[in-house]
Amino acid sequence: MPDIAAGRIWQRYHDRTPRSAEAYQRALRSLAGGTTRQAGHWLPHPLTLVRGQGATVWDLDGHSYLDIINNYTSLVHGHAYPPVTAAIEAQARLGTAWSANCVPQVELAELLCERVRSVAALRFTNSGTESANLALLIAREVTGRDKVLMARFGYHGSVHEFELGHFGREGPMTRLGTYGDATSFEAVLSAHGKEIAAVFLEPVMGSGGIVAATREFLEQVQDAAHRAGALFVLDEVVSLRLGRGGLQGLLGFEPDLTMMGKLIGGGLPVGAVGGKREFMQVFDPPEPRVYHTGTFAGNPLTMAAGLVSVRELTAERIETMDALTTRLQQGLHAAARVAGVPLSTNRVGSLLQLFFSEVPPPFLAGRADLALMGRFHLAALNHGLLLAPRGMVALSTVLTPELVDEAVERAAAAMRDVATELSTPPRA
Ligand code: PMP
Repeated sequence: MPDIAAGRIWQRYHDRTPRSAEAYQRALRSLAGGTTRQAGHWLPHPLTLVRGQGATVWDLDGHSYLDIINNYTSLVHGHAYPPVTAAIEAQARLGTAWSANCVPQVELAELLCERVRSVAALRFTNSGTESANLALLIAREVTGRDKVLMARFGYHGSVHEFELGHFGREGPMTRLGTYGDATSFEAVLSAHGKEIAAVFLEPVMGSGGIVAATREFLEQVQDAAHRAGALFVLDEVVSLRLGRGGLQGLLGFEPDLTMMGKLIGGGLPVGAVGGKREFMQVFDPPEPRVYHTGTFAGNPLTMAAGLVSVRELTAERIETMDALTTRLQQGLHAAARVAGVPLSTNRVGSLLQLFFSEVPPPFLAGRADLALMGRFHLAALNHGLLLAPRGMVALSTVLTPELVDEAVERAAAAMRDVATELSTPPRA
């Protein structure tokens, strides 16, 4: 297959976004690697965005894009959602961070404890990554052990123990099982159980390619963890949006600890860890056994935004988002057939992953469609459609059937470009 950089799609992207290109050159001088967030980086240069409203974002060159990734699920109500913006404005006038408790923090904690059945109490952090770190601190304190067991290619943030596993590697503190295969976890737990503080699992692998777990798998792994004296941590940073009480509520599954993030901050940085009282009491006064603090943890600005975001994520809205995602999925498959490009998808509720292959690989890490994926991503941008470079899609509550049809049309145009590029020789 010809090099993507020699193709028309790449060239068109390059020609269409000169100001983003210039901004990237500037960024390369002071930002290591030209960005501070790998998921927002792609070549020849990432877009530089200047505004977001509802389902649309605008770039430096004045182009608009229909956004179907919504900051990887954190913008569950789209951009600058008026009730969230109003809450942020009101709170900003009162102050943004205080070195003491604040009311919105307790209100958001109450709301999340009410919704997520396994969570009796929680602590806030500033990111999902920090929540993984905190869950690990709790598990280490409770068990007196050090190691983690997670799924190969699972993702729990940029903490060393978990990053290794994300890349499919074991390490001194990291053991791996195969997602979906409970016996692989049982085997590790029976051989090394005494060293393992906690098993971490996503109920749907997000960066792993929207791969769903069954309740039986989760139960079996949690039982094995308990037999080995380890804790079980469910990472709902992405999947919380799938049900009013997270995916665990839909599955009827109760983990020891739950990690949250993304949507519970209403678009601002956030994370949380919650769970059973017996574990969360490591923070109890007067002498907490885990010292957890953070200059911005539970800050009133994030809490005020998060309260609105969570409150407004009703069961009806979740259902509508799920139905719109099915509509999008079906539209994309029809468009791919017409364009003559292979497409397969994984979907759970409002989370969708595209693969430009006849069948999805078991995990995203094993994908063989990068040449097509990269082309489609740039072609979609050329047609005003923003999705993750890896092909992930996460809708928001402000999308409508009309906007979803519009997204399908833009994707169809991008697929036609991909098909044309593959069938024409590269430029001289
Ligand atoms: N866990 C999961 C399942 C995630 O998908 C992510 C981020 N995509 C994280 C943890 C880390 O969250 P953050 O980016 O807020 O650090």
